[in-house]
Formats: sequence, C-alpha cells, structure tokens
Amino acid sequence: MGKQAKAIVSLDIKNLIKELNKALADEFLAAYQYWIGSKVVQGHFRNNVQKELLEHSQDEFKHAQMLTDRILQLDGTPILDPKDWYKLTVCGFKAPKNYNSIAILKQNLQGERCAIGVYNNLIKKYKGKDSITVHMFMHILEEEVEHECDLETILKDIEVSKKKS
Ligand code: FE
Ligand code: FE
Ligand code: MG
Repeated sequence: MGKQAKAIVSLDIKNLIKELNKALADEFLAAYQYWIGSKVVQGHFRNNVQKELLEHSQDEFKHAQMLTDRILQLDGTPILDPKDWYKLTVCGFKAPKNYNSIAILKQNLQGERCAIGVYNNLIKKYKGKDSITVHMFMHILEEEVEHECDLETILKDIEVSKKKS
C-alpha cells in the first residue's frame, strides 16, 4: 500500500481487514447459494427465477472481487481456504432443500436482508475513517437493496399469478 494511501486511513487496519474478510466469506457463500439455487429451482416462473438468481450470483461474485482487491490494497491477506468461509460468515449459508421457486426465493431474500444489515453497519462503523472502503460498501449496499427488491417483486408476481389461476 502506498505511503499516502495508508496515511489517509485513520483506523486499525488489521480490524478492517478482518471485517472485509467476513464480508468476503458472506459474498462467496451468497454467490454459491444463488448459483446452486438457479440450477435446482423448479415450479412457478422457473425461467425468470433462474435468470434472476444467476444474475445475482454474478453480482455477489463481483462483490467478492471488490472486497478481495481492497484487502490486497490494504496489504492484507484475503481468505485463501474456503473452509474459512464458514468460520467467518455472518449471514451463513442455506442449502436449498425445497426446490420450489418460492422457497428458494425466500431463502435468498433472507440472505439479502442480512447483507443489507451488515453493510449498513459497516458504513456506520467506518464512515469518516476510510473513504475508499466506505465508498465500496455503499456501492455494494446499493446492489443488495436492488437484489432484495427484485426478489420481493418476483415473489409478489408469483402470488398474483396464483390468485388468477
Ligand atoms: Fe453481495
Ligand atoms: Fe445480494
Ligand atoms: Mg436483479
């Protein structure tokens, strides 16, 4: 990390790297949860749901990339062993048991709501202390909010279509 870059970060970098790695664990698990969900999903609006889940999976993977890049920029070590995803995760992982699209959407919705809380807390914690990291958290939070909204919208559409038939 550059000398001046380090100088503008007014906090315990070690602790920040730990938080970034926790978020990284969540993002990888979320990416996989969406991805495997898109593969096994059945039932209402299968094609639409598959498409949306796959898109979100790709977004979560991008979030993981952003977090990794920032960790490296701060001279930290990103999680190297997937076993650590489970040790560090905040939002956890819900393996799909019921492949019904409604059940899968609801599981992912729970994950998004957790992620929104996590990033909102991180922004509050690091506001004014590391602008670059906070800017990244805000960008990710914006996308998580969009994800939540997308999932709620599909769930509503399914409800409406069930009533009509
Ligand atoms: Fe994410
Ligand atoms: Fe998300
Ligand atoms: Mg979407």
